[in-house]
Formats: sequence, structure tokens, C-alpha cells
Amino acid sequence: MTAQPAGIYIHVPFCRAKCPYCDFYSVTALDRIDAFVKALPTEMDMQRHRISLADTVYFGGGTPSLLSARRIERILDEVHARFAVTKDAEVTLEVNPGTVGRLDLDAFRRAGVNRLNIGLQSTDDHILSFLGRIHSADTGIATYRHARDAGFDNVGLDLIYAVPGQTRKAWEAEMAKVVELAPEHLSCYTLTIEAGTPLARWVEEGRVRPLDENIAGDLFSATADFLEAHGYKQYEISNYARVCKTERLDLRSRHNRKYWNFVDYMGFGPNAHSLSGATRRWNCSTLDEYMDALQRGASPEAGRETLTREQQILEAVYLGLRQTEGIDTKLFSSRFQSDFNDLFGKQAAQLAAEGLIDASAEQVRLTRRGMRFMESVVQIMLE
Ligand code: SF4
Repeated sequence: MTAQPAGIYIHVPFCRAKCPYCDFYSVTALDRIDAFVKALPTEMDMQRHRISLADTVYFGGGTPSLLSARRIERILDEVHARFAVTKDAEVTLEVNPGTVGRLDLDAFRRAGVNRLNIGLQSTDDHILSFLGRIHSADTGIATYRHARDAGFDNVGLDLIYAVPGQTRKAWEAEMAKVVELAPEHLSCYTLTIEAGTPLARWVEEGRVRPLDENIAGDLFSATADFLEAHGYKQYEISNYARVCKTERLDLRSRHNRKYWNFVDYMGFGPNAHSLSGATRRWNCSTLDEYMDALQRGASPEAGRETLTREQQILEAVYLGLRQTEGIDTKLFSSRFQSDFNDLFGKQAAQLAAEGLIDASAEQVRLTRRGMRFMESVVQIMLE
């Protein structure tokens, strides 16, 4: 167990429709929501000994906003009945536009949600249609405004860029609309072609031509440049928090930072993952298997592995470099009882000479250019 409070993740595996690029697990059988919500406490009972204190609860999916506020409240009550959760816990709900109205957002807030992550994805209707989203740009922006009207003061927006045919000018125009809304947090993901998705098939059949890698790289750099010029600070390769000069608020996602910093987290629901010390566990991947296991009184756990010291070192480098704070070499050396520079000093010097990382005695982090080529940099680092 780490000294830091853990995170609790609830995977809500329902979506109104499947987006053709998405490989997250979800089903469209919304009539099963009730049974799923009723089954969750059984899994929580099985895992209650694993967490001594949590300071985040994250409803992810899928589309958690398909659950009524009454159900969200019920799940939160079940969490509080079994786990110690700090009073100031960050309680995030992922919301997809087109699934909620103003009154729902009011009710989510009353139910105990204090942070929203809205899947806006784009402010361009053509892109939203290509992505197979159920909402229009107007609906997405209206959802954001409703969230503000409902009193949410911590709202993140998810965006997807590097879609086929997208130009830097068009992407900057989208970002300009988004920063005008002044969300506290932005997650900007490049569109990736995930194997087994309809999008991957369209690419294979030649019906869709992915954006050229160099243009996608330019858009990545443009994202960081644009957002940093408009009051956002990048803290992870795809994540930005609004800089709050007056109140010194930290608007980074407390929950997601646990994933990148090896803090324990406990996942509930089909396909949810958990980390406890060096042990990772994951649940069976489908709703059917999950419900069957719980009905039999069995754990829905499908597998587990305990990372070796070497695997932990590799992950610490990979996850450290994803974050703009980089790797704290002193912390690294004390955690693994091995000097960082003895292990990686040679590669770090080579990458620093190429302008891909900044390496000081205490910190090793990617430069902006290094971020653009992160996968190759990490590969060289770990050679
Ligand atoms: S709404 Fe989100 S989770 Fe559901 S299919 Fe679309 S991208 Fe995937």
C-alpha cells in the first residue's frame, strides 16, 4: 500500500450507440443498467479490505451519464458505506452530450458529483458526424453551459484531433472556440486507429485515409503552443489544466494522476483494472461474464500480475516521461535503490544532445520536440 489515498474507479459499460473509432468496452443494452447498478455493491463487498482511504471516485465508461442521478447517488452511497472517502474527494462523472439536460446536471451535483468531464470531442459538426457521435457541436456546447448553470466549477472537456483531412488552421479554430468557454481542464487526444474497430476496417478498405503522420505531429505541437498561449498548462502528453493565477488552484485531474504515479486504485465493473502496490488485477471483459460471476457469488477478477522490479522501472520511465514534470531522479533512485544515472545516464545524455529531453541532476523530462516523438524517445531510453 502506498501512503497516498487511493482512487476508486467505476466502469459504466453502457453507450447509446457505438462510435466507430472506439475500442472501450460498452454495450447498448440500456435495459441492463438497473441490474448492473444492483450488482456493483457485491463486487465492492469483495474488495472492501483493499482500500484504507480514497480521495477520488471516478465514473468512467462507456457513458456514465446514461445513469440517472438517483443511480449515481445510490452507487456513491454504496461506496461510502464500504470505504473511507475523504471529505474533499474529487468525484468525477464522464458526461456525453446528448444524454443529459440541465435538470439532470443539477441532480448529479446534488448527488455528490463535483467534477464533470464532458465528451465534447469537436466543435465541428462534420467531424462529430465522422466520429459517429450522437451529438452536434451546439448540443455539446449547450451541455457545457448547462453544467455551469448547474453550478459545476470544475469541468473538463475531451477533444479529438488529427482526424482525416484536418488542417492546423481548422484545429486552431476549434481550440479557439473551446478556450473561450474557459473549462478548467482539457484532454486532447489524437484520433488513433484501434485494431478491430469499424474505423480500422474502413482504413483497410481504403474508404478512409488517416492523416499523414507529419501533419498529425504538427497538430500535436500546435495544440501545446495554442493552449499554453491561452492560459492552459500541459501536465501530461494529452492533458492540460487551466492556470489559476488568483486562487492557486490545482486543476489537474487528481484521479488520473494516480494512474501515472503508481498510486493504488480500485476499479469496479466489467473490464475495470486495479493496482495495489505492485500488483495489477483486471476484471472479466464483458457484462455477461461480470454479472454471471457476481450472481454465483464469485469474484469477477479475470487475472492478475505482480510487476517485477524491472517492469516497475520501465513503467516509471514511461509514465514519468509522459508527464511534463518528468522523472524525479532522486525519488526514482530511492524507490528502486539504484541510481537513475547508472541505469539510464548514457541514453539520457544522447537524447539531451539531440534536444529531445532536458536532463538535470534532479529531473529528466521531455522537451516539446521530445513529446512529439515520445514513443521513439522512450524506446531509446529503455534500450
Ligand atoms: S460514447 Fe465514448 S465509450 Fe461510448 S462508444 Fe463512443 S467513444 Fe466509446
